[in-house]
Amino acid sequence: MKTMNNARGHVFIVSGPSGCGKSTVLGEVFRRRSDLYFSVSATTREPRPGETDGVEYYFISQEQFDKMVAREEFLEHATFARCSYGTPRAPVEERLARGIDVIMDIEVKGARQVKERMPEAVSVFIAPPSLEELERRLRGRATDSEEKILLRLETARVELQEAEAYDHVVVNDDYMRAAGELLDIINGK
Ligand code: 5GP
Repeated sequence: MKTMNNARGHVFIVSGPSGCGKSTVLGEVFRRRSDLYFSVSATTREPRPGETDGVEYYFISQEQFDKMVAREEFLEHATFARCSYGTPRAPVEERLARGIDVIMDIEVKGARQVKERMPEAVSVFIAPPSLEELERRLRGRATDSEEKILLRLETARVELQEAEAYDHVVVNDDYMRAAGELLDIINGK
């Protein structure tokens, strides 16, 4: 466990195609490092069963989202699978100032924006072992419509080409192993 000090916290950007098991990997990382701050994004997508407002996301309307964009309250924001997603700036800045490390689970366009604004941020791409495995996992989730699954698969194909722009690529063949690798990267800063 890291103790608090006067140094600013570090930013870790974690991206990966939907269905790559990123949430499971991150869940294990937070279990082992409860001092890390998970940046809760705002989104206009509908909550999935089991998701709680303010925990996984702040679920807001497009109108509220647009207002936050206009007020420049987002560190970055992007459209993904026809929904809007954004990282509220203030909670992140506040944690960093207190020396707390921040993890952002964001897609590739947002990751690029954060890297431009905070070049010292460490970016990690979580990749599925293969596209076939990704499709199997996306279908296994069965909460999304066929149209949504196909859209997410297509997006994943495009996103996988972006992997090499990241500082690190972690293949999620086994979530415990992948979490260990991600923790090594975080603990190494
Ligand atoms: P999901 O709808 O499956 O929770 O997330 C879809 C995608 O949106 C994921 O790739 C996730 O990393 C990304 N995402 C979540 N929050 C944000 C955010 O605040 N900004 C950006 N740019 N992407 C986000």
